[in-house]
This record gives sequence, C-alpha cells and structure tokens, in this order.
Amino acid sequence: MDGCLSCKACATQCPIHVDIPTYKAKFLQLYYRQFRRPLRDYLIANIETILSIQSKLPRFWNSITQNPLSSFLFKHTLKLRDLPPLTQNPNHHLTFSHQHNHHSSPLNIPNVTLIQDAFTSFCDAPVLSDMVTFLNKMGLSVEVHPFFKNGKPLHITGFLDAFTKQVNQNSRLLKELTQSGQPLMGIEPSMTLVYRDEYCQCLKQKDPGFKVLLPQEFLSLHLDRLPKLTQPTHDFYLMSHCTEQTAEYNSQTQWKTIFEKMGLNLEIVPVGCCGMAGMYGHDTHHHTHSKHIYDLSWKNAIEKHSIQPHQLLVTGYSCRTQVKRISHFRPAHPIQALLNSIK
Ligand code: SF4
Repeated sequence: MDGCLSCKACATQCPIHVDIPTYKAKFLQLYYRQFRRPLRDYLIANIETILSIQSKLPRFWNSITQNPLSSFLFKHTLKLRDLPPLTQNPNHHLTFSHQHNHHSSPLNIPNVTLIQDAFTSFCDAPVLSDMVTFLNKMGLSVEVHPFFKNGKPLHITGFLDAFTKQVNQNSRLLKELTQSGQPLMGIEPSMTLVYRDEYCQCLKQKDPGFKVLLPQEFLSLHLDRLPKLTQPTHDFYLMSHCTEQTAEYNSQTQWKTIFEKMGLNLEIVPVGCCGMAGMYGHDTHHHTHSKHIYDLSWKNAIEKHSIQPHQLLVTGYSCRTQVKRISHFRPAHPIQALLNSIK
C-alpha cells in the first residue's frame, strides 16, 4: 500500500476491480485511530486550505518555503522535498468573473462554470487564465466559481470522516449549480475525477446528480466553435495523467480530435505514471523510486520520440511538476498550446 501511486488501474482496468487506493484510505483511517499520526499527514490532508491561505501572499510564502534552509528543514523534519512554489500572480480577479457575449443564455447563465482546484489555481495559475481566454475566444461565456476544497487530500491520507463532510457539502453546491443549468468543468484530471469516483462511493450513489467535465469532454461538445488554423504548425505530443487514462478511456482521443479539428497534429504517447502521483514523489523515502518510475516511462518516451520542450503537452499538474523536476523544463497544458496557436 505504501508503494501505491493511486493510478487506479486496479480499480478500473483490472476485471476484478480491486480498488487499492480506497482500501488504503480505509486502512489509514483505522490504523491512525490507534497510533499517532505523523505531523506531515495533517499538512498533506489540509494542503488545499494551506495553499488557499498562502495564495493571498504568494511572494512572502515563496520566500519562506523556497530557500535552502526551509528545503533542508522540510526534508529532515517532515520528510517532504521539492515542494513546488506558488504562482506569483494568482487569478483572484477571475473568481466569479463572468464574460458575457451573444452566446450567453437570456437568463444570464454562463456557457460553463469552472470548478477550481487548489493546484492549478494557486501553483499553476496561467493554465486557469489561459483556459478562460481560450473558451472566450470560442465565443463561450465562463464563470470561475470561487474556490472550495475538493477533499481528495483528506481521502488519500485516510481522514475519511472529514472527507465525507466535505463531499456532502460540495455535492449540495454542485447539484444546485447543475439544477440551475450550468455545465461544470474542472481542469486538473485527478481532482476532477474525484467528483465521479470517490464522491459516488462516499454518497453510495451511481449518479450524484452532477458531473464535472474534463476540459476535453467539454470542448468535445463544442467542436463546431473551434477556430480553424490555416498555417500548419509543428507536431505536438500528449502525455496524460495516469488516473485520467485509466478512468476515462477516450480522454486522450478526445484531445486528438480537438487538435485535428483545429488543423493541428497531436500524437498520443503511451506512458504510465510519471512517478509524482500527487504527494508520492515529494515523500523523501519515495524519492529514488519516483525518479525510477519517471525514467521507465516518461523519460524514455521523451527520448524515443525526440520530443522538444515546446512540443510536449501534459494534462496533470503533478506530472508537469515532475517533468520540470527531472527533465528541467515545464511542459504546457494542451489548452495553452491551443491558445498559443491562435494568438
Ligand atoms: S499503483 Fe495503481 S494499480 Fe497499483 S495498487 Fe496503486 S492504484 Fe492500483
């Protein structure tokens, strides 16, 4: 269980459907009813709240957390390493921004409501603003809903009572938004898919009454609005988050269709987990293993296809962090490539 990357292949692709990440969460809950939890478990479980607070003063917090002394302390006390910095200019101005245009409904309902996640919004904010810009360029009105915690870190660390409370609270909100006719979309695959996996398990319902779409699922509903490029550009390569690949089989081909519709060539690169897997790769005792997993699949694929940094597109936030940490460049999210192509 300690080596589990939470890729969910066992829960989705294995015909027996043994959901090890869920068993792990239950085990941790039971185990830590009897034994004392390490301090870092509380840090990881509450990472969404911590990032949300820190995002108000990103420069200050980056100066405290991103220096050799704090890295040393994190490594030797909390057993965590290479924690990513906060975005210097988060998109707080976008919250509840609602760009109307002639495609908005008469009732002023946006074409899509963006459900934020802590990692994209506070550590990779340009992806969020580029998403809004691209959708607006497609003639779609976007509302960025104020940030609320998703709860996945609570689930991973086995704080299942707190997770259940979060699920009940969020489900009411997401149901209300759905009932008011707002299509919902998230950006980060691992956080977005929690709404249709762990949430359904927790609510003991197959259909919770809402669905938060992945970006490619939403764009696939609006293919006719995609701008068509006349000038050919270079080829792109897509490496998807492992949870996304295992949970939604056609999630990669949807991106390919979107790119082709715009006149761009996208090659899907078959890879496994990048080795970061949320906090797994930040754990000091997983560090070597995390790098080996990256070398096995991602590094190998980048070298085999001679992929240049500007050609690699990566859907997962933690995967982009892992590429930066080991291959020393930060790949773009597919939506950023689409936006750059029409600039
Ligand atoms: S690494 Fe993936 S397939 Fe293996 S136990 Fe964990 S979730 Fe299941």
